[in-house]
Amino acid sequence: MIYLDHAATSPLCPEALEAMKPFLNENFYNPSSLYTPARAARTAVKEARETVASCIGAQPEEIVFTSGGTEGDNWAVKGMALAAMAGPSPRRIVTQGTEHHAVLRPCDSLKAQGFESVRLPVSRKGVLSPDTLKQALKTRTLLVSVMTANNETGTLQPVCELAEIAHAEGAFFHTDAVQAVGHIPLNMNIIPADLLTASAHKFGGPRGAGFLYIRRGVKLPPLLEGGGQEMGLRAGTENTAAIVGMAAALKKRTGDMAEEMFHKERLRGLLIDRLLRRGLEFVINSDDKHLPGLLNISFRDADGEMILHRLDLMGIQVSAGAACNSMSTEISHVIRAQNLPEKYAKGTIRVSFGPENTEDDAERLAEALGTIVVQPHHCACGKS
Ligand code: PLP
Repeated sequence: MIYLDHAATSPLCPEALEAMKPFLNENFYNPSSLYTPARAARTAVKEARETVASCIGAQPEEIVFTSGGTEGDNWAVKGMALAAMAGPSPRRIVTQGTEHHAVLRPCDSLKAQGFESVRLPVSRKGVLSPDTLKQALKTRTLLVSVMTANNETGTLQPVCELAEIAHAEGAFFHTDAVQAVGHIPLNMNIIPADLLTASAHKFGGPRGAGFLYIRRGVKLPPLLEGGGQEMGLRAGTENTAAIVGMAAALKKRTGDMAEEMFHKERLRGLLIDRLLRRGLEFVINSDDKHLPGLLNISFRDADGEMILHRLDLMGIQVSAGAACNSMSTEISHVIRAQNLPEKYAKGTIRVSFGPENTEDDAERLAEALGTIVVQPHHCACGKS
């Protein structure tokens, strides 16, 4: 088996598993309980918050643990809208066409509450230009939400510049950084975002855990009310094991980041080189500034889903478009927003390398693609 779909989810890293074990077993206590053995659980949650905060240049009280990316995105968008409904703030949210559905769908559903939801166009490689945002913000806006890195293409957005523009026009700025946290350096002392979403399973932590960064001073209404956990913002007994596992994974990924970025990007380059040598005709859908190790390519006159299934039979796992939408055979909204010509769009696959992948994995994928992708002018021997 060659797993090349780390952007869909990643294997639990050994450090996370070890950190979680005691809290799945002997230390089952409720972190809020007052007797002595519960103190270890309480301390573990506190230390996890400190670890997560230090990995992204935040303060511990700016980190609220959630169940993952979907929750964080929904909370950021709907929460800011709810706060605005109590006062004279503008009911307008600006985002862009390649956002994850966890942002787009809440924006759409807010229309029923009288909100205007604006989706800005992106370049052929999926980048939102600062000028486009500036123009869009000539109308007063509550919130701008632009992802740090796209989950299908890996394209990075100029979030620092976009957040500055949003602030200059009086809007709040949220970024979905689900694909970026643990993969590229992020420092909240440098990125002027008000809200940032992260999800543990994308960086070697467990599924069902994540966090929302809420900058000090930003008033976001509670997501869940009840026992007052998470500084009164998200009530419910903490999932200590998941929280501790997430922190351990993020610490590991942050420590190894430079090495892992280099390694994954080298495998991506190797794969592109081998595909070119085989004479395959394809386009790359990521911008030059992209997540290390993520390659979204479209083969001319091919069928991405067929490629996925043929690779699967050969024990190689990649994705055709977004895994969160894997039951759909349609061309993804991201590829559509990037205006890819139809003769390429259908032949799109996403390959996302992880730290455990090897050069041999990239070679074997290229070899497999060489036999699967049949193009009128292409011969599997590499000669066109
Ligand atoms: N945002 C992005 C960019 C994602 O890639 C994903 C998951 O694929 C999500 C949000 C949703 O995250 P989760 O699976 O943790 O709910």
